[in-house]
Amino acid sequence: MNVNLYEQLQACIADSDNINNLDDETVDFLYKKKIIVEKDKDDLFLLNYQYETDRSTYSKNVLGLTIAPTLACNFSCSYCFEEHKRKISMDERTENAIISFINNHQESRELHLNWYGGEPLLAIGTIERLLDKITNGTTLKFTKHNLITNGFLVNDRVISLFKKYPLNVVQITLDGKRERHNLIRKTKADLPTYDKIIDNINRLLNEFDNTCVHVRVNIEKSNVGDYYEVANELRKMYDGKRLVVYPGFLRIDNEEKTAYSCRSMDRKDIAELMFDAVNKKVINESLYPQLFCSKTCAATRQCAYIVGPEGEVYKCWNDVGNPERVVGTIHGNKIINRTLLNKYIVGSKWYHDEACRKCFFLPICNGTCAWYVLRNKYENGKYDLCTCMQKSPGMLEKCLETYYEMNAE
Ligand code: SF4
Ligand code: SF4
Repeated sequence: MNVNLYEQLQACIADSDNINNLDDETVDFLYKKKIIVEKDKDDLFLLNYQYETDRSTYSKNVLGLTIAPTLACNFSCSYCFEEHKRKISMDERTENAIISFINNHQESRELHLNWYGGEPLLAIGTIERLLDKITNGTTLKFTKHNLITNGFLVNDRVISLFKKYPLNVVQITLDGKRERHNLIRKTKADLPTYDKIIDNINRLLNEFDNTCVHVRVNIEKSNVGDYYEVANELRKMYDGKRLVVYPGFLRIDNEEKTAYSCRSMDRKDIAELMFDAVNKKVINESLYPQLFCSKTCAATRQCAYIVGPEGEVYKCWNDVGNPERVVGTIHGNKIINRTLLNKYIVGSKWYHDEACRKCFFLPICNGTCAWYVLRNKYENGKYDLCTCMQKSPGMLEKCLETYYEMNAE
């Protein structure tokens, strides 16, 4: 852009009538690139965006099923109070009810299946039986298959089962680097777990040809460096393998449980870390803002369910094991808590929030967590929910300039 055009555009920003001073070719170009738009375009955009969100919310094409075959766990992590984690495992009656539940979703064409817990690999027998029953007793196309595990119990039986029923992603969490992880994430017998988990990550990457391993490294303000240390160590060991190492930002509540405590990283800290990690190519994402079309997760989609070991249904992963957050049961397909179900599916949407409707960052914001939206709305929460990296002060300019420099070379 030449200086003359730059000055003309600055004048347009100061007073939109100055657009009349631009030549036709420039105006056409600006319209085409949506740098200038008609006055009602924002409203139309909001309507369309709301429609896209609702379409994705109520779509029945994909049945999303997260199954927790047990709530028991072989670890005793210091922050997991197990207040709701009763040691219940699934029986055959519930296994069969899951098959009927899947078959009742006749409008769905695909099944996305996640294994969750407790520690799901403690119930490997249930997983084996359910995978056989789903494969032989249902007609949905099995298009995504993920396992969320603490990574400790990988053995020959686990490997041979998931060779038969391949996984897309195994998600494993580390609580920082070795020393910190071993202090926090111990076995019930008080034994360290880091080295065994790393061995198992190695085994998973070597045994499975098409499975990605996603390692989440939990961090708070005091151990940000752990993320880089672990990510660099693992990337050096498994360069070229299907491994993603990403930061898990711990959301630690204050004493009143109304906001994050000062131990948690705030939006600015998170944005700076993400910028730095993407810039250093530790995280493989683009700094260029992306347009997100649907702001939904399992909690906010109609056709997504988390099924506990007794056949109880939850909407959010954070609620699993808490009897007060059960929304229904697969035994007889009953809804038990319509209010909570509606709060998640309908009440948590961005378009009910005036700040989101007016927000400059809306089209590139990847949404907020419904669980926290409900805490703010109904439980006196004051959580800062905007996770959009570019909303942090100065970050949009920084991302665009860096992106420009990278691509101008
Ligand atoms: S950045 Fe925050 S206010 Fe803006 S759309 Fe996203 S969640 Fe809403
Ligand atoms: S509401 Fe939040 S915590 Fe619950 S499943 Fe959705 S993103 Fe995850």
